[in-house]
Parts: sequence; C-alpha cells; structure tokens
Amino acid sequence: MAVMGRSFDFIVVGAGIAGASAAFALSRHGRVALLEMESQPGFHSTSRSAAVLSCAYGPRSWQILSVASAIFYAEPREGFTDVVLARPLGALYLAASHEEQGLKAQAADLAVRGVACELVSAETARRMVPVVHMEKFTLGLHEPGCVDLDANALLHGYLRQARRNGAETLVNAEAAVITRSCGVWRVATRREALEAPILVNAAGAWADEITARAGLPRRGLRPLRRTAITFAPPAGHDVRKWPMTFDIGETWYFKPEGADIMVSPADLVPTEPCDAQPDAYDVAVAIDRIESVTSMKVDRPKSRWAGLRTFAPDHEAVIGPDPEEPSFIWYAGQGGNGVMASQAAGEVCAALAIGEDIPQTVARFGLTTDMISPCRLRPL
Ligand SMILES: Cc1cc2nc3c(=O)[nH]c(=O)nc-3n(C[C@H](O)[C@H](O)[C@H](O)COP(=O)(O)OP(=O)(O)OC[C@H]3O[C@@H](n4cnc5c(N)ncnc54)[C@H](O)[C@@H]3O)c2cc1C
Repeated sequence: MAVMGRSFDFIVVGAGIAGASAAFALSRHGRVALLEMESQPGFHSTSRSAAVLSCAYGPRSWQILSVASAIFYAEPREGFTDVVLARPLGALYLAASHEEQGLKAQAADLAVRGVACELVSAETARRMVPVVHMEKFTLGLHEPGCVDLDANALLHGYLRQARRNGAETLVNAEAAVITRSCGVWRVATRREALEAPILVNAAGAWADEITARAGLPRRGLRPLRRTAITFAPPAGHDVRKWPMTFDIGETWYFKPEGADIMVSPADLVPTEPCDAQPDAYDVAVAIDRIESVTSMKVDRPKSRWAGLRTFAPDHEAVIGPDPEEPSFIWYAGQGGNGVMASQAAGEVCAALAIGEDIPQTVARFGLTTDMISPCRLRPL
C-alpha cells in the first residue's frame, strides 16, 4: 500500500526565480511546497543572469511581462525587501543601415505599449558610449528606463513573502518520481513524499525533463548556453554612466558591472540541462568581439561564467495548463527574460493555475492566454 505524503495545495518544482515568483503568488491561494534539487535556491540560471530589465528585449510575450513587472520593481510592496531592487542603467540598441527598418518598427511598437524610448543618431550614440566603433552603425534606440535588477534580493523577496504566507521551500529535494492518481499529484524526493492537486513545472532547463517524469509529452524546450566575462575598463572613462549596449542582431552586448565591464558574445550553444561552465572558446570569442566592436582591450578577464537560457521552439513564454493534463501547470521557456519578467509571470502562472484569467494588470498590455499557452507547442 502506498504511504501517504504530506499534503499541499500546490507543488512547485524548481526554486529559481520562476519557481520563487510562482510560490509567492500561489501562497496567497493555498499551501505551497517549493522543491529545489540543489542545496540553495537560484543555483542555476538565476544566479548567472546579467539581471537587467529592458522592455525592448526579447520576444513579444516576454516583453509584455517585463513591462508589467517593471512597476513592481520600482515600488515593491511593503516588507518585500529593504534594498533597492532596480537601479537606473539605460539601454542602447545599435543598428547598421540594413537593420534600420527593424529598429524603427521596434521603437513604434514600444511607444504603443507606453515604453519611453527614442531613436538616436550614430553621433548621439557615440557620445553616450565613446568606446564603440560607431562607423559600423547608423542608428540607435535609446531606452532610458532600462534598469539593473538585484536578482538575489528579488529571489529572496519572493521566497520570504511566500514563507510568511505558509509556503515551505525544500532544498536538496529533487522531484525524482512524479505520479498522478485519483486527482492528486504525488512527488517523491529522496526524503519524503508530497501530494497536491496542482503541480507547477518551473524547472528551467529541466522543464521538458519534469514533463516527461510526469508522464506527459515533452514540448521541445531547449537549453542554450550563454557565456559572460567581466574585465577592467579603460582608464579615463566613468563607465558607470554608460548604458547597456547591444547590437540589434544580438551578437554581443556589454554593460557596466560596478566599476568593471561585463560582456557576453551572446552565444547560443545547445546543451543538455546541467551545471553550465564557461567554455574557453566562448570566452575567447567574447574577448575578440568586444575588442573588434570597441576600442577596449581585455588584458585578463576578472571573472567568467556561463548559464543556461531555455527556449520554446518559438521563443515565446510557456505559461499555463498542459493540454493533456490541466492540473500540470507550465512556467518555462524564459530565455533571456526570466528575471526581468518574473513578477508578472509569477502572477499569471498563479492565476492560470487556479482557473482564473490573466490578471488585468498584465492583460492591459496585450497578453492573451493563446500567446503563452503550451497548447501551441507540438507534443514530442
Ligand atoms: C549570461 C546570462 C545572462 C542573462 N541575463 C538576463 C537578464 O539580463 N535579464 C533577465 O531577465 N534574464 C537574464 N538571463 C536569463 C535568466 O537568468 C533566466 O531566464 C532565469 O534565471 C530562468 O529562471 P528559472 O527559474 O526558470 O531557471 P533556474 O534558475 O535554472 O531555476 C530552475 C531550478 O529548477 C531546479 N530543478 C530542476 N529539476 C528539478 C527537480 N527534478 N527537482 C527539484 N528542482 C529541480 C534547478 O535546480 C533550478 O534551480 C540571463 C541568463 C544568462 C545565462
């Protein structure tokens, strides 16, 4: 006879920023168990992010969720955190002449959503970031409202609030066996069994793996590795005033990181879910790229790391009930938007988990369930 597990209203698998934000939102509706296989929350992608919020970044659904979240980070609810969550940074997207149309279309789209931005000449862009070889670019898009987020404070704010509402975060607790019978999910970790009528899949790079463990078809989510390094900036520049700077085709970006510069070669290396490590080749590409598009030289990286960004085949958000089993709720496919979009995405996940519509605070920016539903993804 099966041993009864501890009983909850929701089990959330994965305590990265997605699982934590979902637990925060769900804990207002019932008892939550948040399971993390590592010894600490946020160990994988969440702690390796550039942690920037740019409303111009990423695919449409994630942009909308980021716009809707920005309001919360600027003024978090009382008791959420005692540090500043969002610090002004600014973003500058640069286009070559053949990319100008795309940049102009993006500016128009952002204006419709009420995001402050302006198209700037190459000369103005050069004044903002004097190290870029601007002869390669003809137009810039400046987004002054782009902010640097404190991802750790955000993660722990969600976890703390969830705990205050009675949620339990269990670490070293891999959801190893997942079964469902008589309308209840049963999850076995090494130590215990847990039960709940609703299961949330917030397992980041492991999202498809969790789905398979639950006996449901995978939906083709793929983890792609991305590398970053930091280095000392050239003497004589106050880099803290520079915006985060991207080429619009996203083959590189750099930003001030304290007194240093962080750069990524914007690599997209297909990888199995794992503890991602920086590859020497990608570090060399990062150095080569920053040295070819700017006048900066990298003597020696001060730090280097890699993390996984996980995408659905169309790169849009995957949030909502599984088409075959509506009590299995997806919250996955964040790509490069998972930190910035987490507050609104967590609220949307919770609303769909309890059978409600997308909250008006997010729907008013144009998000619909069809845009994010896993139903659009072919079962594998
Ligand atoms: C270099 C880099 C730069 C980035 N920059 C930005 C940025 O500027 N802004 C932004 O918004 N995003 C950025 N991102 C993306 C962002 O980091 C991710 O979108 C986000 O962290 C994904 O969060 P997550 O909770 O889904 O994944 P994770 O943080 O990976 O969390 C998933 C968790 O699930 C756990 N898990 C998996 N399987 C199980 C199981 N069976 N049982 C229990 N637990 C399990 C894992 O251990 C993991 O902790 C960047 C990413 C990288 C790599």
